[in-house]
Amino acid sequence: MLRLTEIRLPLDHPADELRNAILKRLGIAAAALQGFTIFRRGYDARKRNAIVLVYTVDAEVENEGALLKKNIPHVAIAPDMSYRYVAQAPQGLSERPVVIGTGPCGIFAGLLLAQMGCRPIILERGKEVRERTRDTWGLWRKGKLDPESNVQFGEGGAGTFSDGKLHSQIKDPKFYGRKVLTEFVKAGAPEEIMYVSKPHIGTFRLVGMVEEMRHEMERLGAEIRFQSRVEDIEIDGGKVRGVVLANGERIATSHVVLAVGHSARDTFEMLHKRGVYMEAKPFSIGFRIEHPQSVIDRARLGPNAGNPVLGAADYKLVHHAGNGRSVYSFCMCPGGTVVAATSEAGRVVTNGMSQYSRNERNANSGIVVGITPDDYPGDVLAGVEFQRKWEARAFELGGRSYHAPAQRVGDFLAGRSSTHLGEVLPSYTPGVTPTDLSTALPDYAIAAIREALPAFDKQIKGFAMDDAVLTGVETRTSSPVRIRRGEDFQSINTRGLYPAGEGAGYAGGILSAAVDGIEVAEAVALAITAQQVTQ
Ligand code: FAD
Repeated sequence: MLRLTEIRLPLDHPADELRNAILKRLGIAAAALQGFTIFRRGYDARKRNAIVLVYTVDAEVENEGALLKKNIPHVAIAPDMSYRYVAQAPQGLSERPVVIGTGPCGIFAGLLLAQMGCRPIILERGKEVRERTRDTWGLWRKGKLDPESNVQFGEGGAGTFSDGKLHSQIKDPKFYGRKVLTEFVKAGAPEEIMYVSKPHIGTFRLVGMVEEMRHEMERLGAEIRFQSRVEDIEIDGGKVRGVVLANGERIATSHVVLAVGHSARDTFEMLHKRGVYMEAKPFSIGFRIEHPQSVIDRARLGPNAGNPVLGAADYKLVHHAGNGRSVYSFCMCPGGTVVAATSEAGRVVTNGMSQYSRNERNANSGIVVGITPDDYPGDVLAGVEFQRKWEARAFELGGRSYHAPAQRVGDFLAGRSSTHLGEVLPSYTPGVTPTDLSTALPDYAIAAIREALPAFDKQIKGFAMDDAVLTGVETRTSSPVRIRRGEDFQSINTRGLYPAGEGAGYAGGILSAAVDGIEVAEAVALAITAQQVTQ
């Protein structure tokens, strides 16, 4: 199989033009091309009036060797990206590994362990995804929070009510991202996620996929338990011996995958108390910003705004502020909504989600400022307290009803409180309270965002428009701690504990968390099967 890269065609090219381009690139007759698949399709919008589609294709041809010898530019042998299991557990394996959490990391750790015959026990504090959806809507519609069943907690993890963006900048030399996408498609994701350059799934489909993956794990011998919060972990002589659930039940095991996400604050506290090594790490804080999607489409795609091949436009922005802080756009959701994402009572947290169609009226993204442990001195969990402080402040500013504090960008930049909102209707529910956000975050963050918005307006005309809306606060951008692990994926001071995914500081986003889940599952499966052999 040959891989051809950099095939550039006009946005509105007829379907057979891609085939012709392959033949032309390779200099072969039509009969010599046995078949091809699109490996990647992106677009180059640097010239908004002449946007081109950029393809990478894998082609099956006659006389592949002879063509390779010609050294044609942008033609190479296609890498083998198929996934191979590293272990297969023997029948009757006595040891069952435990996976804590059913976010993308826990699901992929659980799925891979099940596929390798390890029959994992998977424990999730929240509810199964349909019940969880009802509870989450309870906060969004009625301002009623269930601290154990919400945007952060429950089957599918934090990314279930999301845009389902699947791109990631992780290094992936073993093509594990491909395995993730393949499993997602098997579970019901649209086929195009295999080849579009910035795939997304949208929240509606994610719910069905999560359910399907659960059924698959169960078919393979996994046991999945909901409303099963792990409240303690038994460690003896530096080794894990088991976990204890909130109802007091003890599960003995010497292999625990810890995939609890960045909001499991009580679990971080428990692990810290038990002496599991962790350290404070940088994360980011800021606001969500909303614009009409049409403003973003026009600025990014010019006359091609609205073209169905391109879909709703996105953006990625960075500004290095004069006070030394970096401000950047985070988790941009084209045609989506801002969502209430707290898991704790008396706090307000924002995030964003969308449906697959991305056809809501507003674009939103986090506009966040990088911070480090120097900004929140204290013990290893000081970052959690720092997040809580600003989330509680947002709750106050919003009127203590889970409404989010909001401000027009024009007012924010002019330093005056908003008394009303304008043309851009905020999408956050249960509602927003127009106010002054200048005390909603530390001064340095406010100053950096005030400087960044006009700078962003130079790249996207209208970005700092008066009526754009800021909603606060965005604090759960990544984990405030890293639970250190060694080369063998085990905690550096607790054998048998495998810190994984976003909560442990080893992933940021759905795809990278899922890939981390695969890597950790491999480490666990190898350790368990080796242990079985030596017994
Ligand atoms: P999580 O998904 O957080 O899962 C952790 C799970 O562990 C949870 O289900 C939790 O209930 C469970 N748990 C915690 N403590 C315990 C315990 N003690 N016992 C038992 N279970 C426990 N990323 C993207 O790449 N693209 C996006 O479009 C995107 N949009 C997002 C939108 C929203 C609203 C949110 C909140 C996040 C979004 N993210 C997105 C981020 C993404 O969801 C996370 O990076 C990803 O889910 C992290 O995966 P994880 O498995 O490590 O942790």
